[in-house]
Amino acid sequence: MFNIVIIGGNLAGASAAINASIKVKNVALVERHEEPIFPVHCGEGLADVTADFLELDKIGCYKNQINNVEIDVSKMKKYTFKLRKHKMYIFDRNFLEKKLLKKAEKNGVELFTGISMRGFNPPNEIVLDNDMIKGKLIIDASGIACQVGRRIGIKTRLQPEDVGVCIQSRVEGNFKADTIKIWYHKPYAPFGYAWLFPVNKNMANIGLGIPGGQKLDLSKLLNEYISHIASSNYNIVNTFRSCVPSSLPLQNLTKDNVMFVGDAARLADAALGGGIQNAIFSGSLAGTIAADYIKGKISSLNVYQKAMEYKIDRLRKVYYRKSKLTTDEKFMKAYKRAFLILSFLDRVSPNLLENRVAKIMKKDISIFEQFQ
Ligand SMILES: Cc1cc2nc3c(=O)[nH]c(=O)nc-3n(C[C@H](O)[C@H](O)[C@H](O)COP(=O)(O)OP(=O)(O)OC[C@H]3O[C@@H](n4cnc5c(N)ncnc54)[C@H](O)[C@@H]3O)c2cc1C
Repeated sequence: MFNIVIIGGNLAGASAAINASIKVKNVALVERHEEPIFPVHCGEGLADVTADFLELDKIGCYKNQINNVEIDVSKMKKYTFKLRKHKMYIFDRNFLEKKLLKKAEKNGVELFTGISMRGFNPPNEIVLDNDMIKGKLIIDASGIACQVGRRIGIKTRLQPEDVGVCIQSRVEGNFKADTIKIWYHKPYAPFGYAWLFPVNKNMANIGLGIPGGQKLDLSKLLNEYISHIASSNYNIVNTFRSCVPSSLPLQNLTKDNVMFVGDAARLADAALGGGIQNAIFSGSLAGTIAADYIKGKISSLNVYQKAMEYKIDRLRKVYYRKSKLTTDEKFMKAYKRAFLILSFLDRVSPNLLENRVAKIMKKDISIFEQFQ
């Protein structure tokens, strides 16, 4: 029997595996893909605090520094925010995913890659493609599908409007390498937003995400946005569709001997769809707390729930604020007002917003460090 088995080997799962295996032996990770998938289903946008935490420079991970954020609120009006103190990066997520799995393996984690979890017989039995393994503790890091959760009676079914339905292309062209561009709402991304995240001056991730349940042709919307935002000579290299949870976080991040992390715990931001920081933070924290539990240093997994309470609270507030914006008028009024206020604050106190975002992320890291 393994001490800890992690289902899902992406950012949340690999972070859990690395941190659990620092403290205990006999950790396993099951990931259905042999190699992290390419193209990666992500805009690859990351805050500098998280980039530092992941030591992207030390591991040689490519990152493109962003100095400006341009927000279009209509064809006539846009706001530009300069990132002065805290930067954002567009990074090579595929590279990071591979490095994290390698690090987990180096720490002694037994990797079951290219193998799917097919079933779960509580409390310990995990049915794989052609095998069965057992774990004292299970960490569900399987993303939006929440594969373990749905087998133990957690309500994992999401309402269509609680799913961010996304489409993204990798586009070759001419781009301002240090500027990300965002377009809210119509015509390109009704009740959501479209983005241009430059990988460098000749390549960008251009995509859009909207709440599910709208009968819209995503390819058409994306093509229209690309032809609006890209220079006249562009070439679409690849396109994928994917989903991100934009629901309330799970009420309980543990049940019996199972812990939930990342998108499986619905920890992505309901308004923006950003989930990398929370996947890494929740995975790292759950991994280290799971190991303490196995070692008998703590007597309940509730420690994880308690440590995450402030974050759940914040994500809930974002969700409730977003879910009020049900009509065209409410949506437009809310985001136009928000950016007007932000641009005013940016003028009177230039680093206020970026400091606030950085503070939230630093708090995550300091909580994690208490358990290391
Ligand atoms: C288009 C798009 C763009 C995004 N852009 C950004 C961005 O720029 N910045 C940001 O912060 N966030 C972004 N996000 C959100 C972010 O990608 C997610 O929040 C993050 O990937 C969650 O990580 P995770 O490890 O929890 O889940 P996932 O990345 O979904 O990983 C789950 C893993 O579990 C594996 N798995 C699932 N079921 C099984 C099974 N039965 N057996 C074995 N393995 C299994 C899967 O193969 C997968 O590797 C974006 C999301 C989308 C869809």
